[in-house]
Amino acid sequence: MTAPDTGAWLRPAWQPHPRVRLAVTTRTGDCSPPPWQGFNLGLNTGDDPERVHAARQKVHTGLATARGPAWLQQVHGTRVVQADGSEPEADGVWTAQSGLPCGVLTADCLPVLLARTDGTAVGAFHAGWRGLQAGILDAAVEALAPEGEPLAAWLGPRICRHCYQVGEEVYRAFTDTYPGAENAFDPDAEPGHWRADLHHLAELVMRPLGVVDIERDPHCTVCHNHLFYSHRKEGRTGRFASLIWLA
Ligand SMILES: [Zn+2]
Repeated sequence: MTAPDTGAWLRPAWQPHPRVRLAVTTRTGDCSPPPWQGFNLGLNTGDDPERVHAARQKVHTGLATARGPAWLQQVHGTRVVQADGSEPEADGVWTAQSGLPCGVLTADCLPVLLARTDGTAVGAFHAGWRGLQAGILDAAVEALAPEGEPLAAWLGPRICRHCYQVGEEVYRAFTDTYPGAENAFDPDAEPGHWRADLHHLAELVMRPLGVVDIERDPHCTVCHNHLFYSHRKEGRTGRFASLIWLA
């Protein structure tokens, strides 16, 4: 097994505070064979756990942080935890410690990275439509900004508005709750279906919570499937990581 091509990782220029660091892994690498082809970091994907743990170790090496990333067992829920070295069932993790990356794993769902703009805390959150609707970002803001501290958000690679077909239940879940949510959907050629914009939906959820400094990454997991994993496009496949930490 050779090292991952860390030069292929995204290093977003977004920097709400000089202490805040970001990295997004890609599938570039040869740690795992098909159908996880490349650099899979997801344990519950059918891939050999030993390969996944080896790849995770390479992330730690590649980031050169004091500690390895805090990972989660993601369940499309709304639980947010403080990073403590365990791998709990949760969909958000945050920290105020330096040198401790918070990571979420995705393959179409939306990774949301949040930072206090004074550089004192950061967190990573897994936001599919179910998590968004259930309140994962509400819980994220509550955890990171209990006193209303200003936050900034970075929305990572996800399945884009053109590629993401959803059913009527998704459309209803948001339009019944959020004014203007219609604008996050385009009618689909298939009756009773829509095309949904996860970036737009995340902003609809966050703006009323006071998070208005929001940046979007342009990559789509399907349109840019050579770089990222897509559960929709590939079925059984790997997961890539979106990571945020304090220097
Ligand atoms: Zn796309």
